[in-house]
Amino acid sequence: MTEVTRADFDAVMTPNYAPADMVLVRGSGSKVWDQQGNEYIDFAGGIAVNGLGHAAPELVEALTDQAHRLWHVSNAYATEPSIRLAKQLVAATFAEKVFFANSGGEANEAALKLARRYAVDNYGPEKAEIISFEQGFHGRTFFTVTVGGQAKYSDGFGPKPGMVTHLPFNDLDALGDALSDRVCAIMVEPVQGEGGLVAGDALFIRRLRDLCDEHNALLIFDEIQSGMGRTGELFAYMGYDVTPDILTTAKALGGGIPIGAMLTTAEVGASLVVGTHGSTFGGNPLATAVASRALEIINQPGFLAEVKRKAARLFAGLEELNRSRKLFSEIRGRGLWAGCVLAPEYAGHSKSVVDAALNEGLMGLRAGPDIVRFAPALNIPDEDLDEGLRRFGRALETVRFED
Ligand SMILES: *Cc1c(COP(=O)(O)O)cnc(C)c1O
Repeated sequence: MTEVTRADFDAVMTPNYAPADMVLVRGSGSKVWDQQGNEYIDFAGGIAVNGLGHAAPELVEALTDQAHRLWHVSNAYATEPSIRLAKQLVAATFAEKVFFANSGGEANEAALKLARRYAVDNYGPEKAEIISFEQGFHGRTFFTVTVGGQAKYSDGFGPKPGMVTHLPFNDLDALGDALSDRVCAIMVEPVQGEGGLVAGDALFIRRLRDLCDEHNALLIFDEIQSGMGRTGELFAYMGYDVTPDILTTAKALGGGIPIGAMLTTAEVGASLVVGTHGSTFGGNPLATAVASRALEIINQPGFLAEVKRKAARLFAGLEELNRSRKLFSEIRGRGLWAGCVLAPEYAGHSKSVVDAALNEGLMGLRAGPDIVRFAPALNIPDEDLDEGLRRFGRALETVRFED
């Protein structure tokens, strides 16, 4: 095989990413190594994807078993792993029907198309407005990025899909006048991830459900980042006691294998009649075999209780570190999902902090310019959690803020 370097990346890749200055070659549990043999503790989790860490033996087994059986046949044929996974998702949630995609954005694209089609089928074509929220993130397809709440991601690509209205998140007053019978769906992350680890207020989320009921609109929960155990619940909606009509999941669903899913009720799902929507790879046997095993492991009371225990350890550790240097005004989040909000005097410098952490051997994430985000594996060993926190502590001592 050809030798490749980090410099080659810039030579051959489109310039839309700016990855860190090394090439990663191996991962095991919550540790990762680069070409030079440097070790990192992984608090990034591939952006909340590697719920069971790297090379989890059960997932390697599920993947290799399936790899020896059947890789791909397309949706012209049914396969066992996808039926099995759909049955598991139906058993574990409110849902009665499942559509498989290959990513979060595609699962949301399916959800939005279904919401529009359901409205056309049941109420007529003028019921097409979609309500979503500022700072929300729903993917990078043109429809989902338009529904997302940061215009800078959808500007500059020509005319956008219409009838999309953005409201401030967690603002009950703003909801008041915005809803009408023209609305076909509200799409919301119950806990905003990219937007900075902002949990929806219980009253706000409840009000969304009530408004949808009043106006015959569908409530779509985007749980692509918040789902699959991240908050300590299998899905965050379970902690709110509010049930959506459509839920999307991806990221940790496949534990690192690309897969997305849209879950819904039989009544709503009925609008996806033969030919209305599809995907060549969606429900691919390799992906669904791995996701099936991941879901089996994560959806256990004992496993989810451990997520909550580790989360308390992570938050206590972060609060302790912040007591001396007070870089952060707030450390917030849910479960094993933390957002460290830079104090006003350090605002805009989350990249400096994440870079300093990497220098100390800790992989972390940003959520915009002001927030350092952590989403470690849900099964991260306590000793790796503690070592990661020690490395973060050293990073906080050494970080320099350049303008
Ligand atoms: C990551 C994410 C998406 C997009 O998922 P992709 O797999 O990148 O398409 C959508 N919604 C939320 C809440 C996400 O965190």
